[in-house]
Amino acid sequence: MKQKKFILQENELPTAWYNIQADMPTKPMPPIHPATKQPLGADDLAHIFPRECCVQELDTEHDFIPIPEEVLEKYKFYRSTPLVRAYALEEALQTPAHIYFKNESVNPLGSHKINSALAQCFYAKQEGTTNVTTETGAGQWGAALAYAATVFGLEAAVYQVKISMQQKPYRSSIMRTFGAAVTGSPSMSTRAGKDIITRDPHHPGSLGTAISEAVELATTTPNCKYTLGSVLNHVALHQTIIGLEAEKQMAMAGEYPDVVIACFGGGSNFGGIAFPFMRHNLKDGKNTKFIAAEPESCPKLTRGEFRYDFGDEAGYTPLLPMFTLGHSFKPANIHAGGLRYHGAGVIISQLIKDGLMQGVDIPQLESFEAGMLFARSEGIIPAPESSHAIAAAIREAQKCKETGEEKVILFNLSGHGLIDMSAYDQYLNGDLINYRVSDQDIKQTLKSVPE
Ligand SMILES: *Cc1c(COP(=O)(O)O)cnc(C)c1O
Repeated sequence: MKQKKFILQENELPTAWYNIQADMPTKPMPPIHPATKQPLGADDLAHIFPRECCVQELDTEHDFIPIPEEVLEKYKFYRSTPLVRAYALEEALQTPAHIYFKNESVNPLGSHKINSALAQCFYAKQEGTTNVTTETGAGQWGAALAYAATVFGLEAAVYQVKISMQQKPYRSSIMRTFGAAVTGSPSMSTRAGKDIITRDPHHPGSLGTAISEAVELATTTPNCKYTLGSVLNHVALHQTIIGLEAEKQMAMAGEYPDVVIACFGGGSNFGGIAFPFMRHNLKDGKNTKFIAAEPESCPKLTRGEFRYDFGDEAGYTPLLPMFTLGHSFKPANIHAGGLRYHGAGVIISQLIKDGLMQGVDIPQLESFEAGMLFARSEGIIPAPESSHAIAAAIREAQKCKETGEEKVILFNLSGHGLIDMSAYDQYLNGDLINYRVSDQDIKQTLKSVPE
């Protein structure tokens, strides 16, 4: 019988995260203060984030960073996650490619976000914080944070993008079940929220508005720290547990990936699966290709500009050097809520600039077609975000069919779609459309980027 699934024993789990910053040929440029334009150090960031996360954010020296024992213990509740050879998908595609996926949907919350939520809440607790706050779009990050906060005995306050709250009501139920207080953003509970509602009373909310509100809450409340589910370097660092496991599991399968693919919102699940393999490109002469799959409706990697820009709509965050569509960009209301963000993480942006990886943009309908094919062949209903990775993997597998190449393709299944069934309903009813952004619109929102 062909072996399909590869799992690590507890004593084989990686015990350190991989920090690609140590090996990058061009180090990322620092975050800078919007007013003074001075580079920011860990001390400057530590009034917002847990201090240890700030240290990790700016660490360009240590290639491996030990996972705290307490976090490792919690990882063991659900890790390792399976690496699966997608024989049925290969057969459906009639491709000579070998397709593998890492299944990060197999945990209590159903997405990879829990890997960093546990780490951030542990560090917050360790430094004496009692409360954590954050924003969430579709709700996966908020749910992961709510769970991790309970695990480490913290109170969580989550700002959820208003439109997503209405579209995916069960995610707020999950957050509240784990004890979090959930508020729709923009809200009247912060100055940022009031300002946004004053300008636009029917603002549907965006990750940008929700970040502004959560950051304001953290900076105006003692013993409260802000946490972020993507974009930042330390978040991608925590996610490298995915790729480090996959590296061992691919070895069990006796293969090494020619192509590594993940969907792309801010870059954390992409960095998580890609960086440990990219390490071998940088150090050992491997030649793996790395593809980040973004939605056509939010194309910062393929059509954005590399600029210093704000991470949020109100302009509260430090300026970060990133591929961006402009922080005032309002992505179309696609169902892959986790991919509706205007910018890319700092590390990823530098890697793209240096030609070490590439982005592709996937139309919404193609992502759902890919998700359907995957569901019907592998029996797992993917998150609409993850379907972008599946679509990119299918494109690669189809190229192999044309050329006859037996390439090894690895993609990350970042989450399941069981709370996104209304999106599948709309697709099955023929009610979904593609959204292509015009050059004109991108030019317009790029004007919001500081010079
Ligand atoms: C949040 C999320 C994403 C996008 O975030 P990244 O930081 O780019 O990984 C992708 N897939 C799922 C299931 C998510 O919840």
